[in-house]
Parts: sequence; structure tokens; C-alpha cells
Amino acid sequence: MNFNFYLFDLDGTLLNLGDIGAYANQILVKTLNELRTPQIPDKEERYKFWSAGDKYIEVLNKWGVSKARDFWEHYDKIDFKQRKVLFDQKKIALFDDVRFVLKRIYNHKDGKRLGIVTNTANYVVDFILKKFKIAHFFQNIFSMGAKNDQEFAKPSPSGIISILENFHYDGNDHKALMIGDSMSDIIAAKKANIFACLIKREKKRFEKGFNAWKFQPDYIIDRLDEVLEL
Ligand SMILES: [Mg+2]
Repeated sequence: MNFNFYLFDLDGTLLNLGDIGAYANQILVKTLNELRTPQIPDKEERYKFWSAGDKYIEVLNKWGVSKARDFWEHYDKIDFKQRKVLFDQKKIALFDDVRFVLKRIYNHKDGKRLGIVTNTANYVVDFILKKFKIAHFFQNIFSMGAKNDQEFAKPSPSGIISILENFHYDGNDHKALMIGDSMSDIIAAKKANIFACLIKREKKRFEKGFNAWKFQPDYIIDRLDEVLEL
């Protein structure tokens, strides 16, 4: 455990939502329907939205979504409703190695610090951390909503930088690691100039590989407990 600060992505890294791409797509379609989008774009077209970064409004405008600026407010509400249902049905859970790993880092004699950097809405994150009783492990959380706008969402490094400031990170004295299951986690970490760890979780993730990614992870792991060996 060679790092001082451990920053985690939430969805797909700590929280198992099943097929994360399918989950997000389903919420996207529901949101587009609620916003009375003239024609729901096909799967390939919808992929553009997820890779648009801060240009997502242009994509929504192209699709004829009238209140594109209100998109995330609607999306988050639908996401929240869905997660509550899934929680009650016991269909979402933490990955089985999460609690053990968080406990090991949290209780380490060197006083390591933990944070979460997520693009999920703050009230959704609060619900998840509370329901799964892991909130106390994290000294700082960066999520969407309140004062954090979409422009600060990963792949922007803003969330990571904000937490590092809070932790009084000094690049000369400290080592920080961001652990996430998507390309945007890796981009954000490298732009923030810290170490990046890609967690694959499932063998079939990243079938096309990630060698073409502009920003490369420093570590690649299958399970979260491998973080303890880094
Ligand atoms: Mg994720």
C-alpha cells in the first residue's frame, strides 16, 4: 500500500450495477422520452452522447431535445428512482471485495485517506453510501449537483484536484491513486497528474483493449483487492 491518498470512482468500481453501459443507456432513453425527444436515437448514435464530454448539449440539441440544459436534472431523478427500486429488490450491491479493501486502507497505521470522485448526483451518492454503510470510510467526496456542474465531471480533473486540495496534497511528499472502471477515470487522473488504476472487473470489459487510449493507466487490475498490493 504505497499511496497516501486513494480516490475511487463509484459506479462499476465500488457499486455493482450489472452491465454499467446498459444501465446508463436505459436511464438515457427514459430521460429522452420524458423530455419528449422526437425520435429516440439508435444505440450507435446514443454512444456519441457518452463520449461527447462537455459537448453533450450539442448532441442533445441535434437530437431535438428542447430543454437540453435541464437534461441532467431529469436524468438524475430517473436514476435515483431506479436505484431505489433496485436496492429494495436487492439487485444492486457493492462488489464483494469492497468493504474489505476500504477497511484495510482506512485502518492502515500510516493514516491513509480515502475519497470518491463520481459523476453521479450527490443525493444519489448519499443514498448509496448510507444504504451500504460505507460513508464513514471517505474523508471527502466529489459528486455532481450543488455547486458542481457537469463541466466538472470526469474526464475533467476538477473533482480529483478538489479532493487533493482538501487533503493538502503535495506532489513532492505524497502519492495519490485514482481507481476507476472507465476511460474517463484514467483521463481525469492523468490530467490531475496522479497515478491511474483501471479496474476491469469483468473479463469482457474492454474487449477492444485500451492500447489506443490517449491516456494510459499506470496499473490494470481485475479485482479491487489487488489495489492493496500496489
Ligand atoms: Mg465507473
